[in-house]
Amino acid sequence: MADIARLAKDIGRPVRLMEVCGTHTMSAFRSGLRSLLPASVRLISGPGCPVCVTPDRFLIQAMALARMPTVTVATFGDLVRVPVADGYSLERARSEGASVEVVYSPADALAMAERFPDRVVVFLGVGFETTAPAVAWTVRQASARGLANYRVLVAHKTMPPAMRALLDDNEVRIDGFLCPGHVSAIVGTHPFEFIPREYGIPCAVAGFEAPDMIEAIAMLLEMIHAGCAEVRNQYRRGVDADGNAQALAVMNEALEPCDAEWRGLGSIPGSGLRIRDAFSEYDAGRAMELPSIPAVAGVSACQCGAVLRGVITPEGCPLFGASCTPAAPQGACMVSSEGACAAHFRYARSIH
Ligand code: SF4
Repeated sequence: MADIARLAKDIGRPVRLMEVCGTHTMSAFRSGLRSLLPASVRLISGPGCPVCVTPDRFLIQAMALARMPTVTVATFGDLVRVPVADGYSLERARSEGASVEVVYSPADALAMAERFPDRVVVFLGVGFETTAPAVAWTVRQASARGLANYRVLVAHKTMPPAMRALLDDNEVRIDGFLCPGHVSAIVGTHPFEFIPREYGIPCAVAGFEAPDMIEAIAMLLEMIHAGCAEVRNQYRRGVDADGNAQALAVMNEALEPCDAEWRGLGSIPGSGLRIRDAFSEYDAGRAMELPSIPAVAGVSACQCGAVLRGVITPEGCPLFGASCTPAAPQGACMVSSEGACAAHFRYARSIH
């Protein structure tokens, strides 16, 4: 921390560092790191929570699937509590008879499809490059085993295009990025190199313990102070520059890039993953009759979009801590364990 204090003083101006990983957000709060930073160094949360960035349109389609008589929707737990317009959620749909099962992994959903051959099991594929290889693996396995009753409704996202979109929007000044450790463990450090090269903004790939984040923040401040920008890798024990070749091969065999809609950021070219044509029978979006959903307004006063872009802190939302709490969430960012609103509520209601 002494290095950070010295560098912050030498830089002599406010510095805004964005973390784009929900685990970093939680770790920084849980450890008290934010409160230890000099006042001039501010961490802002970006679109790093996978549940938070999943748009309402996807959830409404998932609810429609879960209400089909022979379909079971399998999903990670956080997603079932996300309210869409009128406060409706997968949890509420389940209370009204829709078939929604919480699983711990896509492999559990695949096993469920094998156990219940008379039902179509649809796994909700959300998340970043971290979870996409496991979902791709289930698609490959379903194909290899001839499993005809397994599908994936895909809303996977990739992080580098979203970081580019944030920089192009220029809505928030960002002096450096703490790059996501989990995503980087899969994709490596190269996909972030466009950020220093094209935008002159330094990046540091960080691990998840407080000392990791402190070291990565010091790396960023060093670069800002020296007026240089590159991608530095603090998380060398988990991240190789080239990523995980095996995971990338599995992911790329079943999934390919596509445009994707993000909550709060809109449609970002090339920022999603979809199932390749060779496996289209496992793509719920193509193999099943889905309702076409127009743009959805969501809960009107919820400011999740602005929170995810780093434009406001959760305390800037009029519902924060009043009608919106983890017990009664009004938006995705208060539901997810990695959401910025949940983190601010649990750990830092007095820290800005
Ligand atoms: Fe949405 Fe609640 Fe966060 Fe406000 S506090 S932005 S309503 S999740």
